[in-house]
Amino acid sequence: MRKHICWMVGDGTDIRLWDDPWIPTLPNFKPSPPSTQPVYLFWVCDLFIPGTKTWNFSLLQTLFNDFEVQAILHIKIPASSHRDRLLWLPTKNGCFSTKSFYKTIQDDLPSSSSCAQSSSFPWQKLWSLPSCAPKVKMFAWRLLTGVLAVRSAIGRFVDGIALECPFCYLHSESIDHLFIHCHFTQHLLFASSLSFRIEDPNLTITDLLSNWISLPNGEEVLCYGICLLWCLWKSRNDLVFSRKHPSMESILSATNSLVTNYSYVSGDVCTAPRDCIQSGLQHWMPPIDSYFKINVDGAVGKTSSSCSAVARDFQGVFHGCGTLYNAVICDPLEAEAQAFLLGIECARRLNLSHCIIEGDAQLIVHYISYSEQLIPWKIRPMILNIQDSISSFLDIKFQFVHRSGNSVAHELAQFALKFKISDWWWSSDPPSCIVNLLSADFASV
Ligand SMILES: [Zn+2]
Repeated sequence: MRKHICWMVGDGTDIRLWDDPWIPTLPNFKPSPPSTQPVYLFWVCDLFIPGTKTWNFSLLQTLFNDFEVQAILHIKIPASSHRDRLLWLPTKNGCFSTKSFYKTIQDDLPSSSSCAQSSSFPWQKLWSLPSCAPKVKMFAWRLLTGVLAVRSAIGRFVDGIALECPFCYLHSESIDHLFIHCHFTQHLLFASSLSFRIEDPNLTITDLLSNWISLPNGEEVLCYGICLLWCLWKSRNDLVFSRKHPSMESILSATNSLVTNYSYVSGDVCTAPRDCIQSGLQHWMPPIDSYFKINVDGAVGKTSSSCSAVARDFQGVFHGCGTLYNAVICDPLEAEAQAFLLGIECARRLNLSHCIIEGDAQLIVHYISYSEQLIPWKIRPMILNIQDSISSFLDIKFQFVHRSGNSVAHELAQFALKFKISDWWWSSDPPSCIVNLLSADFASV
C-alpha cells in the first residue's frame, strides 16, 4: 500500500521531512537526504520562511538538488489553516476506497493479465476443446489466472533471484512478456502455422487467447495456440533448469506432434485447416480440375515492401506471375493483404473464372470472411476491395497454406523487394529466381 500513499502538505507540522512521503513528483515521494542532516530541520514546516507558509527558497537550494527543489516548489500550500493530510493516490479525490485498493493489487501483479480480466474469458470454450490434452488446458488456465511460476512472480517472494527473461535478457520475465512480447516468442508465433503477428504492445495473454477463440475456426486456433505456448514453456524450462538451448524448429515440431497425437488418441476429426497444422511442412498442392491456383505472398523491408502472385493450373503448369514493389514502409499485414489483391489482379488478367488464391497469412484469409467492423482499420480498405471482387468470378476461394507450400510466391516477393521490381511475366517465361522452385513443385504433383 505504502507506495500509493503521500502526504498533502497543509501546515507541515505532522510530516517528517526526511522519512515521510510528501513530494508527489519524486520517486518514493521523498527527497534524498544530504550526508549530514541538519539537526534543526525535522518537520516539513521547517522549510517555510518562519511565520509564513512560503517555501524558503535559499534554504531549499542548500539542501536539495535542482530537480528536488523544483519538485518541492511545485507543491502548493493552502493559504488558510489546514492540517497535513494523507492522500491515497490511486483515486482522483485522494480518499481510500476498497475498490481502488483492489485495483492497485491487480495492477501490481507481475502479469497484466489480472484475475478480473481473465474472469471475462470464455472458460467453457476452453474446457470443452475437443482435441486438446487436459494438461494443456490446465496450463492455459494457469496462464490466464497468472499462477505460472515465471521469474517476476517468484521474485515477489524470493529475494536475489534473476528476474530477466531467459530468452532475451532484455525484460523481466512476466507471463505477458514470455508468452507474447519476447522477440523469441514473436518469431515463434509468426513461424508457426498460425502466422500470428503481435501488433499491440499492450496485448495481454487474456486478450491473445480471447482473440484466438473468437476467430471463425477458433477452437482449432486456440487448441494449436495453447499447445504451442505449452511447448514454449517446456523449452523455457529446459533452458533454465538444464541449460538446453531452445530451438524454434523443435518447439514447432513438438507442437505439431502434441496436436496431432492427441487428436488421434481422442478420435477427434478436425476440419480443413487441420492438415496445415498436422504436418507443419507442406508441399504445394495443385488445385482441382479446371481451377487455377494463385499463390501470393508479401515481403517487408526496412523502408519498403513488396508482394507477389504466381498462377498455375491443376497440372502444376505455370501461366503467369506478377510483383508489386512499394517504396514506403508498410506493416507486414498490409503487405499480405496487398498480395491477395495482386492475386485477384492476376486472376483478372488471365481471365479466370474459377480460382483459388492461396497465401501463408492465415489472418488475411480469416479477415476476408469477416464483416467490416471486425477488420483492423489498417487493412480494412484492402480487405473490402477483396470482398467486392468475389462477385466478378464464378468461383473464387481464399485459403491458407503453410509457408513451405508457398515457397515460389515467397521467393518472388523477396526478389521484387530486393530489386524493386513491379512487373508481370506471362506464359512459359517465368523470372529465373523461381524457375527451380516451380520445377520442384511441378515434380511433386
Ligand atoms: Zn524475452
